[in-house]
Amino acid sequence: MKQLLTFIMAASCTLCAAAESKRPNIVFIFSDDHAYQAISAYGDARKLIKTPNLDRLAREGMRFDRCLIPNSICGPSRATVMTGKYSHSNRFFNNSNSRFDGSQTTMPKLLQAAGYQTGIVGKWHLVTDPTGFDYWEILPGQGVYYNPPMIRNGERVKQDGYTTDIITDLSIEWLKKRDQSKPFLLMCHNKAPHREWEPNLKHLGHDGDRKYAEPETLFDDYAGRGKAEREQDMTIEKTMNDKDNKLVAPGQLTPEQLKVWNAYYEPRNEAFRKANPQGKDLVRWKYNRYMHDYLGCIKSVDENAGRLLKFLDDAGLADNTIVVYSSDQGFYLGEHGWFDKRWIFEESLRSPLMVRWPCVTKPGSVNKDLVSNLDFAETFLDAAGAAVPAEMQGRSLVPVLKGQTPADWRKSFYYHYYEFPGPHSVARHYGVVTDRYKLVRFYEPAMNYWELFDLQKDPREMRSVFGQADYADAQKQLEAELARLRSELKVPDPDPEETIIKRGTGKAGKTGKAGGKKKAK
Ligand code: CA
Repeated sequence: MKQLLTFIMAASCTLCAAAESKRPNIVFIFSDDHAYQAISAYGDARKLIKTPNLDRLAREGMRFDRCLIPNSICGPSRATVMTGKYSHSNRFFNNSNSRFDGSQTTMPKLLQAAGYQTGIVGKWHLVTDPTGFDYWEILPGQGVYYNPPMIRNGERVKQDGYTTDIITDLSIEWLKKRDQSKPFLLMCHNKAPHREWEPNLKHLGHDGDRKYAEPETLFDDYAGRGKAEREQDMTIEKTMNDKDNKLVAPGQLTPEQLKVWNAYYEPRNEAFRKANPQGKDLVRWKYNRYMHDYLGCIKSVDENAGRLLKFLDDAGLADNTIVVYSSDQGFYLGEHGWFDKRWIFEESLRSPLMVRWPCVTKPGSVNKDLVSNLDFAETFLDAAGAAVPAEMQGRSLVPVLKGQTPADWRKSFYYHYYEFPGPHSVARHYGVVTDRYKLVRFYEPAMNYWELFDLQKDPREMRSVFGQADYADAQKQLEAELARLRSELKVPDPDPEETIIKRGTGKAGKTGKAGGKKKAK
């Protein structure tokens, strides 16, 4: 036994020595709206789902427990991954009217210049065509779950089947025919589990009609918080519609697929209509339907991550490939009565992040530093031995992945959300996040209030303590830190989006000066 162990250790040292001499490949698996609550490696009191393949990344690599998103919504988050910058710096603020300026410096372009082959497959959502990729095959806009039209290096193509499977198929095909003399960056971007959460037909009924445990805050009344929280439009109760609830079938199914769909949903929908639940019972019915559908999508995400990992194993690529799994933001699975994202609050702000880097990252390690998807571009460039431009606003995670977080690592994080008025009606806000606190300002003229949350005493963020005497010192420090971050990050005042978009017109933004009149709600 001892001899065998010595042999294995010697063999793995040789592997590591070989891996260190070559620049690593990077496989970035990115999902859309994947809540960390729906990954078993993150643990979950509700025991929502088992994700064995994603858990493998946590077991063989590092799980990050506080990966924070600077602007928790699809397009802006993707623009941040590409540029290593905040929305006000890469000028992609929202999903409604922002267009990504593909002429700016991006991480894929820099890796390409450093000799990497670069490919992206799946959800892109930045409106303009991708730049910096040798191969791209993307879903137009949000994409669809079945038989998706796609755009391959500018050509419109049609794919048949389930989109999550197709994205991984195309990713593997590209890896198979790549130039083996070069290292590669593959960005495998799922559409799933984005609304309307449509599972692969083979996964319908995956949960055996189980009743899901409810989050404690499913019937939150938003007391203790302000107008923005009360007036949003993202509740399971009021916002979820018939398409979300699968009382209407999606349009892209073939007649054969529709038959399978109906065989699952129709009898259950019939029973629902007959029972005609109301009030809290209706919310509960919708919550359970939502969990079946959302988690059904996650089953495919997990399976396909497993297929990609197996391909890397079989092709002998695993030892010299960094595999990253993340999502463009977090997501509500009924907490506070919500679905969707957008808020500075925990379920929205935090995305899952797991990184496997053989011989560099200790298997099974857990990190609680404040990291961000702002750091991804810098990390990939650093790992590839390419220079990181000074204008990027994140920081390489390479030392963190080695288990050596620098002493001057960030202790606070700036957040800023812009899309208002817009879908789900979440008011514009910005704030600072630390390991314990969040100071938030909702700065719409009709609202203009501040909130302060103490995550240690109030982990569900139910009660703002802004203006309370007990928190005067903490509040003062956080206000100073927020001002410091805004200045360091060069956040234009009053509103970055309006200031940048209207620059040169001489028109002022519509909001008051940041840091001006403060009012406890
Ligand atoms: Ca998203």
